[in-house]
Amino acid sequence: MVCTTQHVIAAMRAAVRAVSENRDELVELDRAIGDGDHGENMERGFLAVDTQLRLVSPGTPAAVLKTTATSLISSVGGAAGPLFGTAFLRAATAAGERETLDGAAVAALLRAALDGVTARGRAERGDKTMVDALAVAVEAAERTADEGTGPIGVLRSAATAADSGARETIPLVARKGRASYLGERSAGHLDPGARSVALLLHAFAETGGD
Ligand code: ADP
Ligand code: MG
Ligand code: MG
Repeated sequence: MVCTTQHVIAAMRAAVRAVSENRDELVELDRAIGDGDHGENMERGFLAVDTQLRLVSPGTPAAVLKTTATSLISSVGGAAGPLFGTAFLRAATAAGERETLDGAAVAALLRAALDGVTARGRAERGDKTMVDALAVAVEAAERTADEGTGPIGVLRSAATAADSGARETIPLVARKGRASYLGERSAGHLDPGARSVALLLHAFAETGGD
């Protein structure tokens, strides 16, 4: 059981739909502890991804991920655009010349994505950012991949872990990004970027392979 370029494209399209469908929730979350634009930022970014994927017809998983990265970086002004862009760019590099991805490769891509986000944003776990969802997702993905599970099983376990990682941001006080300007008042709210990580992983798990 492997994930082909077509599966990666389908997974990205599922992400485009998930982001649009959940745009209002992301706006509400960001309104509570940020400037209320996270839903718009994500929607604009992923609509650009959708357009570029149609124009480019990428031929490898890496090319899909790279097109995604450049579309996000060039279309999103907020913090999340460059951060998710870097995540997809690092995942593209990790995918290399592979034609297909197995479970272990998917886990390696997620690890590379996390490394990219932390290199760029310098957030640590517990800072109440997307890192809190992505870090636990990577650990779950690696555990599942080690058991010999295929790409979809790996993505499912990553998505479920990201849900708990996102939920665990609720009591935290933000130490990075706009929410950190609120200090103690940021506690009691779910971090929008962490929610986006979970949304994306669930979308990928839905359609990312056979
Ligand atoms: P902006 O804050 O510029 O309006 P968004 O609203 O699109 O951008 O994104 C906010 C999200 O970005 C936050 O919820 C958080 O998860 C994430 N974020 C912000 N700064 C960082 C950082 N330094 N490292 C990791 N994630 C961050
Ligand atoms: Mg915002
Ligand atoms: Mg903003």
